[in-house]
Amino acid sequence: MMRQYELVERVTRYNPSADEALLNKAYVYAMRKHGSQTRASGDPYFSHPLEVAAILTELRLDDATIAVALLHDTIEDTDATRAEIDTIFGEEIGKLVEGLTKIKRLDLQTQKAKQAENFRKLLLAIVDDVRVLLVKLADRLHNMRTLEHMPEHKRARIAEETMEIYAPLAGRMGMQDMREELEDLSFRTLNPDAYATLAERLASLRERNDGLITDIEETLTARIAERGIAAQVKGREKRPYSIFRKMQQKSLGFEQLSDIYGFRVIVGTTEACYRVLGVIHTTWSTVPGRFKDYISTPKQNDYRSIHTTIVGPRRQRIELQIRTQIMDRVAEYGIAAHALYKDGETGGRNIARHTEESRAYDWLRRTIDLLSQGDTPEEFLENTKLELFHDQVFCFTPKGRLIALPRGATPIDFAYAVHTSIGNTCVGCKLNGKIMPLVTELRNGDEVEIVRSQAQTPPPAWESIAVTGKAKAAIRRATRESVRKQYGALGEHILQRAFTRADKPYSEGLLEGVLGLLSQDSIADLLAAVGRGEISAQQVVKSVHPDYQDERAGIIRPEPGEGWFDLEKGQGLKFRIPTVTGTDGDALPIRGLAGDIPVNFAPNGGAVPGDRIVGILTPAEGLTIYPIQSPALKEFDDQSDLWVDVRWDIDIDNPERFPARISVSALNEPGSLAAIAQVIGENGGNIDNLKMVRKVADFHQMIIDLEVWDLKHLNRIINQLRTKPNVSSVTRVNG
Ligand code: MN
Repeated sequence: MMRQYELVERVTRYNPSADEALLNKAYVYAMRKHGSQTRASGDPYFSHPLEVAAILTELRLDDATIAVALLHDTIEDTDATRAEIDTIFGEEIGKLVEGLTKIKRLDLQTQKAKQAENFRKLLLAIVDDVRVLLVKLADRLHNMRTLEHMPEHKRARIAEETMEIYAPLAGRMGMQDMREELEDLSFRTLNPDAYATLAERLASLRERNDGLITDIEETLTARIAERGIAAQVKGREKRPYSIFRKMQQKSLGFEQLSDIYGFRVIVGTTEACYRVLGVIHTTWSTVPGRFKDYISTPKQNDYRSIHTTIVGPRRQRIELQIRTQIMDRVAEYGIAAHALYKDGETGGRNIARHTEESRAYDWLRRTIDLLSQGDTPEEFLENTKLELFHDQVFCFTPKGRLIALPRGATPIDFAYAVHTSIGNTCVGCKLNGKIMPLVTELRNGDEVEIVRSQAQTPPPAWESIAVTGKAKAAIRRATRESVRKQYGALGEHILQRAFTRADKPYSEGLLEGVLGLLSQDSIADLLAAVGRGEISAQQVVKSVHPDYQDERAGIIRPEPGEGWFDLEKGQGLKFRIPTVTGTDGDALPIRGLAGDIPVNFAPNGGAVPGDRIVGILTPAEGLTIYPIQSPALKEFDDQSDLWVDVRWDIDIDNPERFPARISVSALNEPGSLAAIAQVIGENGGNIDNLKMVRKVADFHQMIIDLEVWDLKHLNRIINQLRTKPNVSSVTRVNG
């Protein structure tokens, strides 16, 4: 096992300003936490995070990433917690380790769910720091390298997942070496026979072509050097899997394959790349159709190189890649080569931190963008899947269960997705440990904890907040249920008041005695019927106390002109209104259309908070709220049992608007209507409806239905309208 100082040395070799204390701390912490745990191979468990860290030093990653590699299994597999890691190593490292924990849990989920195909994209979406992915890839690489210690039945699944998810991911991230090794290791497990055959053939070919690679390397180097260009030529035999894939794709036999060997010519400058190309093309004959210049037109993942195939020194077909050292590093390490670590600058950690300038981060973003912009058929297919994927967010329960939701989903949707009973009792939520509003749009990777209360019923307004059908249907059902209950409560309230007013005793026992008389099955039914206005309170009082005479005088309302809202003077309510009955505190609270009591507003004129109001309860309309100055109330003067005491109970931050009607007389000239609409709009009013009622030569009169916050808001609009020169009068209309 690598020693502590060896690891630190590896890092300081490429990053002299690395935070050695951090690395030492992470080494010791992880070693202690994993303690005596062992791997399937029998090795101490800690050897695994250590090897993962070592792989990442080959990619020359910053010290924070190396530390995260050491810690990457601690939250999931030991008693370590995010909070503890935050305290010891800081929040940045804590967040990265948690990202890896989430992926690991995701691994466990997908095993069941068989969502492998979306998994790769999911990873990209969850991970907002590319270093998490780099550690994950290194983690997977080490697990693949030690796969033979796993039980046989697990091997195939892990290899399959690697082939389907991690190898392509490494490829997308431009890490070709990593991709090839992952593919090859998977191939060996998934298709052992093919692997063995190919390995054997490669070995015999190697024997036959003894010294071929070295020979070609030397010849090429010499020819290039003759022209005064310093170049390094590296030859390699292709890996079994890439040969296998080529045989499959082109339906070729092994003997027909021409490009078993690949050579790279690495030079110092871009200009030298083209000069080398010139040398090679004038020295050997080229294979037509194999020339590609990815230097002048880089691949989307930033890969740059010149590709060509020649018939080389031993009459062998040779694939050549010509590039600079920088291009070579990008080609091998991909995203990891991109400024995650910069030599010689102040502390790798700060530079690597994911900030807006972080090129690596931009690069990942671009990679993700590219994934959705491909133009080959294969990429297009990818793209289509990605579209689906873009419509979704993936979140976790505190126990790590993965919940997929449509994009735009809220914690309310999440709660219902977990279970209807959780949705119905949801009163709040914590996102990633922080209390957040339930209207918050969920983001990929959010951990959602639902705060519940058994006393809760979902407010009807949630139906418009939720985006999933499941949540909407459940809210509707629960709302209907709770509306039924509310009618019962309203009915009880009305009955109690009616009995008190009549100065008669009230009890459920007394109601029980008249259920038959009123054709009701239960007290609950009776109360709801009263609440819905199907049975009047007076009727119930008289049924219980047949001797009762309704002595209640009609409601006292202001006479027109006496106490009405004085529109002409533009002032607030100044009328002398006796409370209709009872005290305000006793009255039924009205919380708007979205409130807990089902209400309507006066159909011809509306009512707004600030208005003195009464409720009229009829079977046809239910509870309708009128401003007390409404002439329409006259109609109900003789039916005092329809009257319900109500009062406003509007939350300061209630987003609901209320209906009101105004009548405006304005000069009949071009643009005057527009001017009126503009005043209303500028003052934050909504015009719901507009009707021309009279049109004489010089004047329009129009009736405008508005939606406003409250009386103050309505008056502001009225006053503003009055200041307009083309407006001659504005009055509020009460139906
Ligand atoms: Mn691991």
